[in-house]
Amino acid sequence: TLLSSEIIAPFGESAGLSSGALLPVMEQFYTIQGEGYNTGRAAYFIRLGGCDVGCHWCDVKESWDADAHPRQSVPQLVEAVLEHAGRNVVITGGEPLMHDLGPLTAALQAAGCRTWIETSGAHPLSGTWDWVCVSPKKFKAPLPEVLAAAHELKVIVFNGTDFAWAEEHAAQVPGTARLYLQPEWSRAARMTPELVEYVKQHPQWQVSLQTHKYLDIP
Ligand code: SF4
Repeated sequence: TLLSSEIIAPFGESAGLSSGALLPVMEQFYTIQGEGYNTGRAAYFIRLGGCDVGCHWCDVKESWDADAHPRQSVPQLVEAVLEHAGRNVVITGGEPLMHDLGPLTAALQAAGCRTWIETSGAHPLSGTWDWVCVSPKKFKAPLPEVLAAAHELKVIVFNGTDFAWAEEHAAQVPGTARLYLQPEWSRAARMTPELVEYVKQHPQWQVSLQTHKYLDIP
């Protein structure tokens, strides 16, 4: 007997977490990771629809409404990944942790892929990951459990007060996590010199630049 939640869940995203049976996909493409620890590595990106974080400077606002994007099954997504040479898969969004990513990451890893996630950390962690990049946002706080699982903390710097905020979050990730400060793209010209100066004074941090935007690749 099917419970009503089993019937409704794949389509009930706006009301809460989805089951992961079908995932709303805004776009998917094979490119070079442009930022953070894995910069320069070839990776297949799956951008899932759905985000309730609400960053005012978000450059993918069209991702916010999960229902605006066609849904794909896990086998469809794995097949699409396997058409490409790369085996690094970045699950991004939107906020990908609004979905149960257990089935997708299990299937990708079974197919020999490495699973990487880019998340704000605002929803509970699901899935099994080879690399967790947490990029916390002021508009919806990251959960401690997601910060505790981070391999990489990537803080977007919009203005000078963000350095203290970055330090607060660095205190909540494992000591082995890599720490990155990345200028928000529209403020890069203004903030990058200040950010470089901060990293020179606090060398536990590294500068991350959105190299794909400078290179004009997706
Ligand atoms: Fe946009 Fe990401 Fe912020 Fe969501 S968390 S609003 S997708 S920048």
